[in-house]
Amino acid sequence: MILPGATLGILGGGQLGQMFILAARRMGYPVWVLDPDPDCPAAGVADQHLCAAYDDPAALQSLADHCAAVTTEFENVPASAIHYLERRLPVRPGAAALAIAQDRAREKSFFQELGLETAPFAWLRQAEDLTMAAQHLRFPAILKTTRFGYDGKGQRHVTTASELSTAWQSLNTPEAILESRIPLQQEFSIILARAVDGMMVFYPAAENIHHQGVLDLSIIPARVPEALQTQARHGAARIATALDYVGVLAVEFFVSTEGQLLINEMAPRPHNSGHYSIDACVSSQFDQQVRALCALPLGDTRLISPVVMMNLLGDLWETGGPDWQKLLQHPQIKLHLYGKKVARPGRKMGHVNALSIEAERALSVLRILRRDWNWPR
Ligand code: ATP
Ligand code: MG
Repeated sequence: MILPGATLGILGGGQLGQMFILAARRMGYPVWVLDPDPDCPAAGVADQHLCAAYDDPAALQSLADHCAAVTTEFENVPASAIHYLERRLPVRPGAAALAIAQDRAREKSFFQELGLETAPFAWLRQAEDLTMAAQHLRFPAILKTTRFGYDGKGQRHVTTASELSTAWQSLNTPEAILESRIPLQQEFSIILARAVDGMMVFYPAAENIHHQGVLDLSIIPARVPEALQTQARHGAARIATALDYVGVLAVEFFVSTEGQLLINEMAPRPHNSGHYSIDACVSSQFDQQVRALCALPLGDTRLISPVVMMNLLGDLWETGGPDWQKLLQHPQIKLHLYGKKVARPGRKMGHVNALSIEAERALSVLRILRRDWNWPR
């Protein structure tokens, strides 16, 4: 076990890195972060910010010299950096899970190999594959880059096969997947933590509502049939076990209008839809990331209160920034701002957790705030 007082490292200093560091420091672990952005959100809270590329040999050596273990806040860390660190100290989750999560096509194939159902998709590596895909896949469909996509970026909606070639060219990517668009009834996510000894704990499912491809709200408890939640937990557990995963793992699910459960994607880290756990669970997903990384017993994931999480996007800053007084007048709302210096439409600047005796009431509070902010969705 790596006990408080030991220094931890993290690759990536966005908001997820920042919240990991806050949790770790609260528990008495100094944290070093590696991130090439001098203004990254984690820079302000880390004990040491190594401002360098993720594959910078000196920076990686420095992490290895000073840290007892290293984790990541995002899956797109170069494999070479992980391999370098893995030879020197525990890296959790390890290279295998990151390699799969980096690549949508590999990830979806991996799910199917485990017997988990995904939306029908085709893997496109060259222009000729488009014709094949157009013949075999049901439209409308979504063309997605295999790598570096997030918050709906790197995606094109294609209504008919005739639009495919233009969409492919505009994505300008060496590889993509074409995926049938599923008529959705609901979306939800399962976040679990798995320890070094294989022990697993699950967070309550989060019902996720997206707006223009970006997560808008997470509602907990999720209004998703219990049987589907159980099925999803089994699926998520199968993934974690197959990867011999250590850390926090998020898995996103679709429920089709026909009531069928499909797996969408996974994130080998804490997830936006788990931010509710900071205020509403005994142990947050970031506490849990610290525990798993340090080979400590896992914490209790129990929900203390119904909660709704709402993302604060850069759109809100377009007209001078949100009116904070209108937010802070609600005693049930907990504010989390990441300290990003530049706001852009769609950029995640922070989030709020509204806690109440029922999720429906928490939703009403957020609806009032939205109305006051003139931020309809
Ligand atoms: P994020 O980083 O926010 O998880 P992402 O860029 O990795 O997103 P996806 O999770 O694949 O992308 O898609 C974002 C959202 O777009 C989904 O949560 C869902 O609302 C919608 N979406 C994606 N694929 C499909 C599909 N096949 N059918 C219906 N809706 C879809
Ligand atoms: Mg997603």
